[in-house]
Amino acid sequence: MSAPQFTVTPNRAPASPQRRAEVLADPGFGRYFTDHMVTIRYTEGTGWHDPAVVPYGPFTLDPSAMVLHYGQEIFEGLKAYRQPDGSIASFRPDANAARFAGSARRMAMAELPAELFLASLTELLAVDAEWVPAAGGEDSLYLRPFMIATAIGLGVRPSPEYLYALIASPAGPYFADGVKPMDVWLETEYTRAALGGTGTAKCGGNYAASLLPQAIGAEHGCAQVAYLDAEERTWIDEMGSNNLFFVFRDADGGLELATPDLRGAVLAGITRDSLITVAKDLGIDVVERRISGKEWLDRAADGTLTEAFGCGTAAVITPIGTVKHAGGEVAVGNGEPGPVTMQLREALTAVQRGAAPDPHGWMRTLVPAPAAV
Ligand SMILES: *Cc1c(COP(=O)(O)O)cnc(C)c1O
Repeated sequence: MSAPQFTVTPNRAPASPQRRAEVLADPGFGRYFTDHMVTIRYTEGTGWHDPAVVPYGPFTLDPSAMVLHYGQEIFEGLKAYRQPDGSIASFRPDANAARFAGSARRMAMAELPAELFLASLTELLAVDAEWVPAAGGEDSLYLRPFMIATAIGLGVRPSPEYLYALIASPAGPYFADGVKPMDVWLETEYTRAALGGTGTAKCGGNYAASLLPQAIGAEHGCAQVAYLDAEERTWIDEMGSNNLFFVFRDADGGLELATPDLRGAVLAGITRDSLITVAKDLGIDVVERRISGKEWLDRAADGTLTEAFGCGTAAVITPIGTVKHAGGEVAVGNGEPGPVTMQLREALTAVQRGAAPDPHGWMRTLVPAPAAV
């Protein structure tokens, strides 16, 4: 396949430099979008066609478009960071491309070739680079690739047509006032995903199903929900948008960094995978194993669980202060972000913002550094 040729239609009414500066001063998360977006169409028989950079704006969809009825929708989330040399790089986008194709396979959707996925990122950044926040901090441009089934008709079958799109949104530091632990609701009634289901695919439907338990957690003052496995309601899976890690200390001071293994219902987070590598680089023992909800509560109570945290692209690492459940609540450690948590967070974010070497070749340049004058 030769390099895809994207057509570029410039936005005739882009945000003014002043407006953009206002947005970048306090972007929050997912509230503002850049001037352009990418669209690529798929038609059965023809394949992927018409890759385009166009002004950001609404789509027109037929009311019978299949996504609106049977939910064929998948997405990704990754970040582009301005580097100290002025270039713009994203973190492991090839891993997002591969996962996007895997999600498509599970949802019987067309697989976007990795080459097109990666090209969509560089093409969008080529026109919207000024939306990437300044280097040095944790600010980034959040990239949201997604795909929907666009064929019309109410017959239940895989759509023969898809729309892939990429939008981008400046993101501020997740913890603007320093890293703060969150409380987590350990959910024992609702589950997130079952073996053989769609838990390993990044599809919108999984998130729709998580909103009710999320609201229940919020009623208990919790920012996120941890789910148990659907079969035995015993083993911790993940948090629905974050994977989980635990720091255990045994009586003789030995330290174990543990994360639930990828048992077929857990979404394989790229942050999770990266942290396993970073921890090994730092000489920390990492174990992928089954961890029960009971072990979490018991060992938090007896003090041998000293730290717990969630991880994902948006916040990188979020420490967990207290775990709450239908039968009570237990603080993890002293309720403050722990040393292993913060060491891992610093190590990974330093690679992402270009402040530390990148021994695993994780950063991929999307926009080169300006030529030296
Ligand atoms: C996206 C996601 C994660 C985190 O994955 P990252 O690649 O680290 O951002 C974890 N769980 C679920 C269900 C997700 O959708």
